[in-house]
Amino acid sequence: MWFLFQVVLERILPGDVAEGTLLSNGKRLKYNINGHLAFWVSLFVMLHAYPMYSDKGQLVGFTRFPLEKIYDNYLDLAKSAIWFSSALSVYLYVKSFAKGALLAVGGNTSSGVYNWWIGRELNPREGDFDWKEFCELRPGLIGWMIINIGCACAQYQRLGMVTTPMILVNLFQGLYVWDALNSEQAILTTMDITTDGFGFMLAFGDLAWVPFTYSLQAKFLVEHSPQNIPEVFWLIVFGIKVLGYIIFRGANSEKDQFRRDPSHPSVAHIRTLDTKVGRKLMITGWWGMARKINYTGDWLMSLAWCLTTGFTTPVTYFYSIYFFVLLVHRAMRDDEACVKKYGEEDWAAYKKAVPYIFVPGLI
Ligand code: NDP
Repeated sequence: MWFLFQVVLERILPGDVAEGTLLSNGKRLKYNINGHLAFWVSLFVMLHAYPMYSDKGQLVGFTRFPLEKIYDNYLDLAKSAIWFSSALSVYLYVKSFAKGALLAVGGNTSSGVYNWWIGRELNPREGDFDWKEFCELRPGLIGWMIINIGCACAQYQRLGMVTTPMILVNLFQGLYVWDALNSEQAILTTMDITTDGFGFMLAFGDLAWVPFTYSLQAKFLVEHSPQNIPEVFWLIVFGIKVLGYIIFRGANSEKDQFRRDPSHPSVAHIRTLDTKVGRKLMITGWWGMARKINYTGDWLMSLAWCLTTGFTTPVTYFYSIYFFVLLVHRAMRDDEACVKKYGEEDWAAYKKAVPYIFVPGLI
């Protein structure tokens, strides 16, 4: 029902149309950009559109959905998300054999199982409905935020209050989700959209993994409050989140603007390196500090989320640890892809101009 609800919002809400990057078949796909509105409508509906009836069965008004039930049925909901994403990936794999489907470079190997896993077709669609872009941003990400709110409701039900760490984790992760939907167009230039196929890995990741493991901190906080933590600690956590967000948003927006219009006043001053393939690489600004400074900002935010759970268990730090591994692996994958994209000589010159990967002056 949740997935369907998001599909309906994607179909009916007004929005802009944006063009994706140039594909290997010389075409550009058009995308419906109304995710930001879908975010607010979803939030409004969840908090205001649950019907209330009198004893006589008459409609007397509307209130919030009983979101605490998400916490009570967490495992069942996670199981349905796993089944649903698995079924979707099988459908996408079969669909990728349709005539004219544009295949992802990495998803067209001799192993059918690998292709199903990694994603065979680059941009599977029904008409102008784009499965990958939709799943990347809407049911899982907005769902994650609703799960967090459900955890806050469950905590209120149990403790009669919502604690500071629960408020913080809801705010932090809510901001992350809002930011992704508010910058929806920026996803069109990311690796997931331009390079990776849409198979089990992304479908499972988007629809099951993200909402049900990224909400681990809020889930933990329902029944465990961090003990003996001085108030100033929450200020430090808040500071780490803000710092991470400034780096993450600054770097990602800068690249997005630069790729869309390098003469735009906000990026025109940035020094660049020319490459033989005709594309320029930024060597000052955020991208001159470190080659993956955007990942550093993202990781700092993940650390702030985990810190809201205090220090009683390492389990809630799972996200930061997993994300660290994911980002290092992703940085290596992108490095390899860029060697192919720009050629060894130009990429080596870029690495000489910007020697650090994550932290300027350090690593
Ligand atoms: P990037 O946004 O870092 O994109 C990499 C591409 O950017 C390169 O292939 C290259 O492509 C271009 N680029 C790299 N350096 C430069 C430069 N100096 N000047 C101009 N262009 C450059 O990677 P991702 O798509 O992996 O990540 C996007 C964001 O999503 C990140 O902030 C990441 O942290 C986040 N993310 C979050 C995840 C989560 O689970 N929370 C998972 C994955 C990512 P080209 O030259 O072709 O433009």
